[in-house]
Amino acid sequence: MELNNQQRYEFKTALEKVKELQGKGTELISLYVPPTRQISDVSNYLKGEYSQSSNIKSSSTRKNVQSAISSILARLRSYKRTPENGIVFFIGHRKVGADQTRMVQFVLEPPEPVPTFLYRCDSQFYTEPLDGMLLDKSIYGLLLLDRSEATIGMLRGKRIELIKNVESQVPSKHRMGGQSARRFERLIEIAAHEFFKKVSDLALDAFGNEKGLEGILIGGPGPTKDFFIKEGYLHHELQKKVVDTFDTGYTDEYGLRELVEKAKESLSSIDLMREKRLVQKLLDEIRKPDCGLAAYGEAQVKNALQIGAVDTLLVSEEMKRIKVDWKCPKCGFEKELIYTTTPDELKCEKCGEEMDLVAEINLVSELFKLAEGVSTKVELISGDSEEGGLLLKAFGGLAAILRFPLGRHGS
Ligand SMILES: [Zn+2]
Repeated sequence: MELNNQQRYEFKTALEKVKELQGKGTELISLYVPPTRQISDVSNYLKGEYSQSSNIKSSSTRKNVQSAISSILARLRSYKRTPENGIVFFIGHRKVGADQTRMVQFVLEPPEPVPTFLYRCDSQFYTEPLDGMLLDKSIYGLLLLDRSEATIGMLRGKRIELIKNVESQVPSKHRMGGQSARRFERLIEIAAHEFFKKVSDLALDAFGNEKGLEGILIGGPGPTKDFFIKEGYLHHELQKKVVDTFDTGYTDEYGLRELVEKAKESLSSIDLMREKRLVQKLLDEIRKPDCGLAAYGEAQVKNALQIGAVDTLLVSEEMKRIKVDWKCPKCGFEKELIYTTTPDELKCEKCGEEMDLVAEINLVSELFKLAEGVSTKVELISGDSEEGGLLLKAFGGLAAILRFPLGRHGS
């Protein structure tokens, strides 16, 4: 399962939220279900934990742990089978104010498989297995090649996939008796040419339809890989995406890992370069009279999105906007406020009563949905480059490159 930008953003935001939460006692439950574990197994396990929890001394902790387990059990019932990458529950009573608690529930389907089954009850949620799943989102094609073997793979984030391994029929240097040296050379060259053509076709099959392919890394032990590139064996669309060639000791599945390791530096600089380019393009447009093809400021960007004018939406990964509707249960006073994280409480400004949180909308997720509806590309920009920092500080984390100009004040 590949996450789209909206899912990525939501997963990241949820994870950050989960990390901040504190329980009063050891009453926050983290449950990791790997894809291989049956839902019925998990339910049975939880029923066991439920009976165990009757031994908990503190009655409030016992009550909270049991209600958290019940809540997970209820949610498990809506699953016929374990999702593709497994599932993770963070459920429990978080501390609110001095001595109150409130139930929180997060159910996440992670972008990479959950590695092992884990049940933990603690005063904090346990998120370590999920850390790093979002570190690198890019997709790269991997191609290893020498005259005897080729391997094709894919790098998705941190995950390396083997797609195909083929051996060549190119004869080795040992000449058969009776063959002339020249004829033998020729045979070898024909066989090698056929093999390279085959590898090129396999690469096209594997990489050609991969939306969002950032680049292709080529590896192998000798000069064959460079010959392959120089002679233009790769389809010209793929050729344009070749990042570089790297020397590896292996051309088999093991070599894929080696290739990614060798290319690490190039990869992280490519990611940053892409972000820099996008923000730079935005700045170039802004400098033009009437803002050129740029929009910034939440109202203007939203307006541009709604009329389908946005080509690329730039959203800082650090941007957080949550709109909360409050209502006073006593006097009926209503208030709408914008936050960066969900607030715990608000006192009514009319009568001092504690207000109810009636609705909570993540404005960034709303933007993603809006963008999807009008086929606008969304680019998440990290805060790691100077330009990414600028997007956050100068434009509140949100800007757009437009399909057509709107003029400085929008239309
Ligand atoms: Zn009130």
